[in-house]
Amino acid sequence: MLAHNPLVSSRTNPPVQVTHGNGPYVNTRRALESVDLSPVRGKRVLLKPNVGRVATAGSGIVTHPEVVAAAIDAFREAGAEVAVGESPIAGVRVPEAFAASGMAAIAAPRNCPLIDMDRRRFVPVPVPDGLVIQALKVCPEVLEFDFLVSVPVMKMHMHTGVSLSVKNMKGCLWRRSKVEFHMLPPAAGSRHKPIDLAIADMASVLRPHLAIVDGTVGMEGLGPSAGQPKPLDAVVVSADAFAADAVACALMGTAAEQIPHLSLGAERGHGVVDLQRLCVTSEHWRDWISPFAQPPENLTIEFPNITVHDQQSCSACQSTLLLFLTRYKDRLFDYFPAETTVQIAIGKGCGEMPQGSLLIGNCTAHQRDKGIFVPGCPPVGSQILAALAGQRSATSPRCSSTQDDVPDQP
Ligand code: SF4
Repeated sequence: MLAHNPLVSSRTNPPVQVTHGNGPYVNTRRALESVDLSPVRGKRVLLKPNVGRVATAGSGIVTHPEVVAAAIDAFREAGAEVAVGESPIAGVRVPEAFAASGMAAIAAPRNCPLIDMDRRRFVPVPVPDGLVIQALKVCPEVLEFDFLVSVPVMKMHMHTGVSLSVKNMKGCLWRRSKVEFHMLPPAAGSRHKPIDLAIADMASVLRPHLAIVDGTVGMEGLGPSAGQPKPLDAVVVSADAFAADAVACALMGTAAEQIPHLSLGAERGHGVVDLQRLCVTSEHWRDWISPFAQPPENLTIEFPNITVHDQQSCSACQSTLLLFLTRYKDRLFDYFPAETTVQIAIGKGCGEMPQGSLLIGNCTAHQRDKGIFVPGCPPVGSQILAALAGQRSATSPRCSSTQDDVPDQP
């Protein structure tokens, strides 16, 4: 938590370090060499990567473990005690995510603790100036460590534009409380989506002391989990998380001013996103810009003849659905032979669905009589196939699907 940040050398013109072309470990070490880490001597540092899903390094879904390894080494050499913590999306077990991502492999030889931040009870934290959030349930380690470091992977994001170091702090919220950000009603008098306002509210009390943005392999398109890996071989570091995210946005070919949670937070004075005000250390950093494909504004564009009704859903159901559609959209029509357009609902806020819809997740249970309902919070891809197969087998014994051909998590 950020009361005072001794790593900030200038609030008005924050420095940002960008390194490129030497792989995740060396890029990170070189970027951190430019930061005065002396304030961490004798202190406890919590690294918060993005390991919210079960995925491998280089997939663009999770932070590269060599970036985290470099950060552990740098902070230890500066005299700090270091640990790595995560609270993942619903349905993901932390040890599994640490193992799959390679975090366990880099932490073990370093004797660096990996913390499941969901194990202990949350600490309530008020958000005095919150527009849509008045209090947060925060994982206790976030308050117990002296320094908090956000280590996200560079991603496009279907619902928030990008997912970088400011948004990565959502993984410090306890267990399913992070789901609440997706369930908020529209804010009266605001043109912004509640999720964007909620992230800006969160940033008023929950900002990292340092951001290390991993652009080794990012994710373009259907982020945060169903897009394409985007190799960039870059790392961005700043004690101003908004400044780091602004430079990361530029490297991704977008502008922080176009990302509501970043522009809202900057307007409230939580950081700087105006590139003209930033002191970016490498004068050649713009040579490394490599535009990421934007997320589609509407999933129907990405998946023709499928209409997704997505209202107040959270990341877990979105991930399940996007991965399912990416892999099985063609097979879907086998189960809806009479439909020219398949109607799918996720989230609790969908209006009245037509008969013959596919209703995914417990949040849609109130409309279960409208078609095929897939229970779960979140359900996994195999459950969707099983529900579809069960429905079809009642009318057609020829249709069968195995449950083991769908990954349960990204
Ligand atoms: S059912 Fe899906 S959208 Fe609803 S809370 Fe669970 S994971 Fe989130």
